[in-house]
Amino acid sequence: MSKQTTGIHHITAFAKNPQENLDFYAGILGLRLVKKTVNFDAPEVYHFYFGNENGSPGTIMTFFPWSTGRKGRIGGGQVGITTFVVPSGSFAFWLERLQKFGVTAKETVRFGERYLQFSDHDGLALEIVEREEGTASEWSFGGIPLERAIKGFGGAVLYSTAPAQTASLLETVMGLEKIGQEGDWVRFKGSAELGNVIDVNVAPVEHGSGGYGTVHHIAWRANDFDDHQEWRAHVAQSGYQPTPIIDRQYFNAIYFREAGGILFEIATDPPGFTRDEAFEELGTNLLLPAQYEGHRAEIEKGLPPVQVREREVE
Ligand code: ZN
Repeated sequence: MSKQTTGIHHITAFAKNPQENLDFYAGILGLRLVKKTVNFDAPEVYHFYFGNENGSPGTIMTFFPWSTGRKGRIGGGQVGITTFVVPSGSFAFWLERLQKFGVTAKETVRFGERYLQFSDHDGLALEIVEREEGTASEWSFGGIPLERAIKGFGGAVLYSTAPAQTASLLETVMGLEKIGQEGDWVRFKGSAELGNVIDVNVAPVEHGSGGYGTVHHIAWRANDFDDHQEWRAHVAQSGYQPTPIIDRQYFNAIYFREAGGILFEIATDPPGFTRDEAFEELGTNLLLPAQYEGHRAEIEKGLPPVQVREREVE
């Protein structure tokens, strides 16, 4: 069985303070908070989903803000850098916007593309690249004009402790196309227009450690529920140990750890974030899965109040 993922479905990271997390990703980067829920495995912690106007696969950045958690260290076995893509001609706008909010950014070039690299308040490594491809976001916030808004993920930079095996997995199991090698990087591409460019280090990177300021896992796209079952069989036949299929309310998921230490998930495109909230209201209510509805009062009491708000210039 040969299968091809089209690209990234979502990326999930740890944060420290929930309000600071909202202030950065909604307030500065202008993403839409499309779902405010809890960690389904630890309901005392929020789970925030950010994305374009409806949180399309390929645009979804999610966080567990764990205020008592420890700081992580970015390194091998993680997504090292999360890449956002903006419309062509937006580079100067974003450089100025980041500076305006006191975020230090530096320019770098990979595979002939110019990247603006910076960190969020927890130290999570991010970058912005301009590309023509990818549908423009229809969500505008905090004074970001629609024609400058982040479209979604450009892709991700993986830090592998076993790069040859990670590269082989991406090509032969995940079905991405190897399109180049330059210096320390090998580049892979999927057929989606967002979340489709993956760079992997050539030399092994020393293990990082999990905690706030690091990515927990990267999820790849499955078209639908039937495709997802095929993916599970395919991953198992390829020598990995996927979890059973888990209902994550907005998608079904399987997880497995690849040889380079990175936690991979495969997630279904459907049903998406309008499953339990109207498009106009996305992100405004605290949504709980059925198993926690009976505990709503105590869960709400334990969570700090947060709001999506415009940021003041520092
Ligand atoms: Zn996930």
